[in-house]
Amino acid sequence: EIILAIETSCDETAVAIVKNGTELLANIVASQIESHKRFGGVVPEVASRHHVEQITIVIDEALNKAELEPADLTAVAVTEGPGLVGALLIGVNAAKAFAFAHGLPLVPVHHIAGHIYANRLVKEMTFPLLSLIVSGGHTELVLMEEHGTFKVIGETRDDAAGEAYDKVARTLNMPYPGGPHIDKLAQEGEPNIDLPRAWLEPESLDFSFSGLKSAVINTVHNAAQRGEVIKPEDLAASFQASVVDVLVEKTYRAADQYKVKQVLLAGGVAANKGLRKALEERFKNTGYDLVIPPLHLCTDNAAMIAAAGSVAYQKGTRADMALNGVPGLDLEAQ
Ligand code: ATP
Ligand code: MG
Ligand code: FE
Repeated sequence: EIILAIETSCDETAVAIVKNGTELLANIVASQIESHKRFGGVVPEVASRHHVEQITIVIDEALNKAELEPADLTAVAVTEGPGLVGALLIGVNAAKAFAFAHGLPLVPVHHIAGHIYANRLVKEMTFPLLSLIVSGGHTELVLMEEHGTFKVIGETRDDAAGEAYDKVARTLNMPYPGGPHIDKLAQEGEPNIDLPRAWLEPESLDFSFSGLKSAVINTVHNAAQRGEVIKPEDLAASFQASVVDVLVEKTYRAADQYKVKQVLLAGGVAANKGLRKALEERFKNTGYDLVIPPLHLCTDNAAMIAAAGSVAYQKGTRADMALNGVPGLDLEAQ
């Protein structure tokens, strides 16, 4: 079984080809970051136009890389949502056209299911499992009892972790996307600035990052007013420590509460060095099987969509030519 997958939910035009759900034959990502940088964030219309320009080129590149013809493929998987509607539509329509032209079944995939399934390219999944999803638009703890079923047991009440990183980075005058820059700066500083940690109610597995974001912005402004100097690397380290502490502790609590076998990290912020290290330390010698994907499978890519698409294909999930991009697609309804 060979799946070609298409991902265009945000600002990466990505196509991958995966054999039997786990063997990566091609993984092409055309990033648009350079085009969005000068606006300080993703501009939806600009994203859509880039996807239109890139999608057929990237599909051809993936087939060339894998040394395959469309006739060698078993199915086409595509991100149905969530994401930017105009961006999603380019991928969905390309997938429909490709599937129709080559007589292939079409398999719709949820973007966050994709992020989770990036882990299956690293290691076979064992259930029940817990996944911590930390991305530009999501911060969730998801419980899976079996392939393809998702239960959200905790989620952010305001900003996503990646969003908080990007907003704090903007305050520190760093280019978009700020997450990687803060991460790098944090390695050089000391977490010596007192910032809040949103634990919420004692039993809650939810998250909140807007208070922390405001606290960082206030710290910067107050220091400027008083003429004090704050080392940006210390602020980055302090912010990162605050985010990571809460993410790691709530993930551990959830793993313990739901007696899972495996813990998977997923989403763009999973590329964060501080988070990866802290999770490894917290889960060391605990009996939980912690899986952390390599960096190129954390941020948006189509390999993860192919991995999730393979499982969906085996389960019989199909879409017809009426498939649409769904910006607010629900993970639990999958
Ligand atoms: P979603 O997956 O929720 O729809 P998205 O697809 O836009 O959102 P991803 O591509 O999964 O998000 O992740 C992008 C986010 O990850 C950005 O906010 C970016 O700043 C953040 N990010 C990437 N690398 C790092 C890092 N090393 N440290 C912190 N954040 C990071
Ligand atoms: Mg992105
Ligand atoms: Fe994503």
